[in-house]
Amino acid sequence: MTSVAGGLHACRDGTHTRLADGRLLCWAPGPLLGGCVYAVDAEIAEQPVPRALGRRSGLLGREFWRLWTRAEARAKVRDVPIIVWIDTVAWTADADLPDGPRVEVFTVEAGDLVVSYAVAELTSGGGPTD
Ligand SMILES: [Zn+2]
Repeated sequence: MTSVAGGLHACRDGTHTRLADGRLLCWAPGPLLGGCVYAVDAEIAEQPVPRALGRRSGLLGREFWRLWTRAEARAKVRDVPIIVWIDTVAWTADADLPDGPRVEVFTVEAGDLVVSYAVAELTSGGGPTD
């Protein structure tokens, strides 16, 4: 279940992402994803694309945010900083790392948001990310 939390939010079961306007998105898949690592990323679909990233990626608007949230979700679930991810992975082509655990990503538009969810098989030493 995904929800937008206002004000203070505290939960131990969910993974979270903060929106540009301060809202916090919580994804708590519960027992459905036992044995998996999961992460969520969301952006406001109509917000402006940062100029440098837009120029560098050649992407605009919703297409930028769709691919950006997919990259963020993949990077989070693999515990790679996004700044490293965008320098090493062809994220504008919706690419992933060639090795490591298999990662599934799905993206939806919900209200004013583009939301991407990533799920990876749990490897030894791994754990839920936030
Ligand atoms: Zn939560």
